[in-house]
Amino acid sequence: MNLPAFRRRARAAGLAALFFFLSYPGHAALAPPEPVKLVVIVSVDGLSWPRLESYRPWYEAGFKRLLKEGRVETSCFYRHLNTETGPGHASLGTGAPPSVHGIVANRWFEANSNGVGLRRLYCTDQSDPSRVPGQPPLFYREVEKDGRLYVFGRRRALEIWEGTGEIGNQATTRIGEGPKGETLVLDGDDAVALYALHHSLPAVDLPPSGTIPGPANLRIATLGDRLMEESPGSRVVALSGKDRGAIFLAGRNPRHVVYWYDRETGRYVSSPAYDSDGIVGAAARDLVRQFNQTQAGNRLVGRFGTLWHPLPEPPSAAGLPRPEPNLARFQITDLGLGFDHNLALDPRGYFDAVYTTPFQDQLLTDLTLAVLADPALALGRRNVPDLLALSFSAHDVVSHTYGNESEEELDALRQLDRELGRLLTALDALAAAEPKGRVVLALSADHGFSPLPEVVRRNTGKRIGGRLQSADSGADTPYPNIQERLNRALSETLCLPKTSQPIYGIEGWIVAYDTSAFPVRTVEGPCGEAGRTVTVSDLDRVFPDIVKRLYGEEIEDVLLISQRARWPEDGPAVPFARNDFDAKRSGDAFLVPRNNVLMHWDPERGSGHGSHHDYDTHVPLVFWGAPFAAAESGETCAPYDLAPTLASVLSLRLPDATGLSHAPQR
Ligand SMILES: [Zn+2]
Repeated sequence: MNLPAFRRRARAAGLAALFFFLSYPGHAALAPPEPVKLVVIVSVDGLSWPRLESYRPWYEAGFKRLLKEGRVETSCFYRHLNTETGPGHASLGTGAPPSVHGIVANRWFEANSNGVGLRRLYCTDQSDPSRVPGQPPLFYREVEKDGRLYVFGRRRALEIWEGTGEIGNQATTRIGEGPKGETLVLDGDDAVALYALHHSLPAVDLPPSGTIPGPANLRIATLGDRLMEESPGSRVVALSGKDRGAIFLAGRNPRHVVYWYDRETGRYVSSPAYDSDGIVGAAARDLVRQFNQTQAGNRLVGRFGTLWHPLPEPPSAAGLPRPEPNLARFQITDLGLGFDHNLALDPRGYFDAVYTTPFQDQLLTDLTLAVLADPALALGRRNVPDLLALSFSAHDVVSHTYGNESEEELDALRQLDRELGRLLTALDALAAAEPKGRVVLALSADHGFSPLPEVVRRNTGKRIGGRLQSADSGADTPYPNIQERLNRALSETLCLPKTSQPIYGIEGWIVAYDTSAFPVRTVEGPCGEAGRTVTVSDLDRVFPDIVKRLYGEEIEDVLLISQRARWPEDGPAVPFARNDFDAKRSGDAFLVPRNNVLMHWDPERGSGHGSHHDYDTHVPLVFWGAPFAAAESGETCAPYDLAPTLASVLSLRLPDATGLSHAPQR
């Protein structure tokens, strides 16, 4: 056979095959697909689809590739109220809304375990297994070393410190100053309280039962949990700037590797809720310790300096979409206003400042690349699939501080674009390495972001939207917050004693009454003689009208939990409230905010999210890597679809998920 003829035939055969695949795309799947080596979840905290889309011409690296090479869903909406970080990450991790996974807000109110009264709970709070609830810890140890006094309330923390010198490896570390001016390093709140006790200092309230960060509030399994159930040799690693970003993307299995940035020490930390003694846990612990020593913690200032300087503009920047000008009046001033921002100004210290800039995304990518390169963890390099979950937090913090329409936000996205470019390059290399296998990535966000209400007014010339001062703002401003005003009005209307506080708390759009304080007797006043009984149903009777009278411009409806069966099905927020409802965690009422109304601790600066409006619910959903072909789809979908889609890629079932798979049928 002469060579040219062979070449011709080969080319013809190639063309025929190409034609065959173009004509019958379904048949392409007949070739056995390579196994999946690694599934990657990327969450960009607070990134709406319209925002990502609007800056498309700016991207040069990761976002550019994902939008061009991935399957891009452009109409993907959350359908729950309280679009916050905890609920959103739990939804991405599990494929279900808060009514199913239980993480109804970043904080909520729950009955105490003894049934008396309520307590405010952070979404990752769980009881410390080493503590007997209500009892002070039995363990206490002080150790002096290098002019510092180390104080331990947990034996395990002491053991880790003795073995590794690591105290920042627990999320609970506190730094203090002793009576003689010495530096105190305390391993948690128990240590703080016991130190006070042992040194006859003014008593510090001992937490009723020690809490640690962990996934215990999650009611259903995540994708990572199901992967480990079906494939015990698989590994799940979750990394984030925030504990709730990492914990809820990972899930409940204690063998997951879960680390996040600690704003007090500038290091990545984990929790005793996750096992750092097993083979995988110990490998991760050694890697993160090394990383903390060489690239984080005290190394940060040497690496990043004290100025946040924006990326230079590309030469062809003319005509690119621009952020809103002149926002200084509406921005939080902690790092100064306008570029360059000065990290040395942060009143909470340098490590906190790093958290409020794109440097934290760079650091997270550095850690991620170290994890991917680690031979002991060997992610995506064995004969079983692994899961890597990443939550990049800088975009959210920057949007909170400077506004989602600010030049700082654009810079955070451009810098993240670069970091995602580095990540994709590493994933390309991993996919090409032996053993052969695919890498599949899904990108989404935990929520979008509210525009600055003042900018909406400025641009529309209309008096719409506004700000409500959240209940946690009390100490920071002289203005009464929403909870104080509502409590005053409820007490007046129902003739309650002046000191009564019928509302226990407001978190997100959840209102919880202090039900344990009821029934209450009236005092003399417009209601007539003193001594009449006021019950919780009386609160329900007057509360919606009081909200309407005081906040009619900002709040369009009150959905009482007691009336849940009768909520109007055509109420625009009702499906969102139902999808956020949990009988033990939703308190007594949902407030329904009007468009462009922000609940925020600062009365005039900064931005946020949490509503059921499109700007908070419309997020990206992108799938990258085979079996997903490059395409853009405008069909309505939800971020609850992310986990079921990846589950289908891994041939797993998520029995509790409500989302739908977007993976092509084989
Ligand atoms: Zn968030």
